[in-house]
Amino acid sequence: MGLTGLEIFKQLPKTNCKDCGQPTCLAFAMQLASGKASLDQCPHVSDAAKEALDSASAPPVALVKIGKGEKEVALGNETVLFRHDKRFEHPTGIAISVKDTDDDIAGKVAAINKLVFDRVGQIHSVNLVAVVNTSGDGAKFAAAAKTVQENTEFPLVLVSEDAAAMGSALEVAGANNPLICGANASNLEAMIELAKKYDAPLVVKGNGLEELAALVEKAGYKKLFLDSGAREVNKVLADQTQIRRQALKKFRPFGYPTITFADNADPIQAVVDASIYIAKYAGIVVVDSTDPADLLPLITLRLNIYTDPQKPIAVESKLYEIGTPGPDDPVFVTTNFSLTYFNVQGDVESGRINGYILPVDTDGISVMTGWAAGKFTPEKITEMLNTSGVADKVSHRKVIIPGGVAVLSGKINELSGWEVLVGPRESGGIPSFIKQRWGA
Ligand code: SF4
Repeated sequence: MGLTGLEIFKQLPKTNCKDCGQPTCLAFAMQLASGKASLDQCPHVSDAAKEALDSASAPPVALVKIGKGEKEVALGNETVLFRHDKRFEHPTGIAISVKDTDDDIAGKVAAINKLVFDRVGQIHSVNLVAVVNTSGDGAKFAAAAKTVQENTEFPLVLVSEDAAAMGSALEVAGANNPLICGANASNLEAMIELAKKYDAPLVVKGNGLEELAALVEKAGYKKLFLDSGAREVNKVLADQTQIRRQALKKFRPFGYPTITFADNADPIQAVVDASIYIAKYAGIVVVDSTDPADLLPLITLRLNIYTDPQKPIAVESKLYEIGTPGPDDPVFVTTNFSLTYFNVQGDVESGRINGYILPVDTDGISVMTGWAAGKFTPEKITEMLNTSGVADKVSHRKVIIPGGVAVLSGKINELSGWEVLVGPRESGGIPSFIKQRWGA
């Protein structure tokens, strides 16, 4: 748990110089305690105090990154046991395994690259490719890592407990910050050496939680993932829960993200196991399937669990063109709550209507809620009409508003000068509304 404002205040210079933008050191301490400021905003804090505050305020689960560039995967920084307490921060990374004994490695990687799904305007995909050294042959493992790396942008998890084989694979893939998976009681020193050499994250596997804690302490390395060694689903679940609980109590050896393996030979059971691990704290879950029918449920479950309950899903508030609209086509106004926007878009599209949609930024809330909360107002709608560029696209000055907010029409007309047509209360009525009212 974080420090209180007063505990932080004791470590600050107490000069009230205001350089941090706060009127007093105490005010700054309060901001820090609530996570609204960061310590580096005070230029005068001593190194000793900085160290004390940094370690005390460090998140209970360290943030560890795999890969580089756009597809980099960051995991950790979690602060709660239950999503409704705050939110979960970094969605479970889904890794698909490729064995170095597979006949068509490039073909499997091509199938993995296609596991990308569009859901209400957001793109979701798997995140990593796990290259598994099933052959026991270092050269084969390195060759597989090379083939995978050349054929995907997803970061790699290199799975082998043979330090020599891992060394060979890292020679070809080590520059891209792969996850080294990994270390155990018998190879710890050699794996740590490799991890340090490539500055890469490392999985530490224990034979149970006690050994795991001991190995982490011995490792003395900070870019870690944890594996309790359990492979039976009930044991994995128990260990995952225990690791998160202890991490939140600031038991430092368990303050790292975890890796789990859902490799049951029965594909349905593997999906069930993976879903349990996603629900219960897995940093990474490794699965074998490339079937979209297996992956889509997992990705949807992950989305449900990791969506911030305090933050509605919103689309960008800008001008959207549906079909191939011209200067005479209709202009619809709605809100930027994703489900509202995509209902309107879907009904405009299914009515084969060419038109423009302007989702006003209501912080992602729906039409009636936005109106009641003062976020879907004539002023905001007018601003959108004036600044979105729609006025340059159409030659008319007619805007269609949702039927539920008919009461806004007079004021919108007064502020914008646009004629306001009150559309249907439900977007499903748009096609018949356009047939009857547009151009009539
Ligand atoms: Fe206090 Fe530091 Fe802020 Fe100055 S910059 S008021 S010393 S917290």
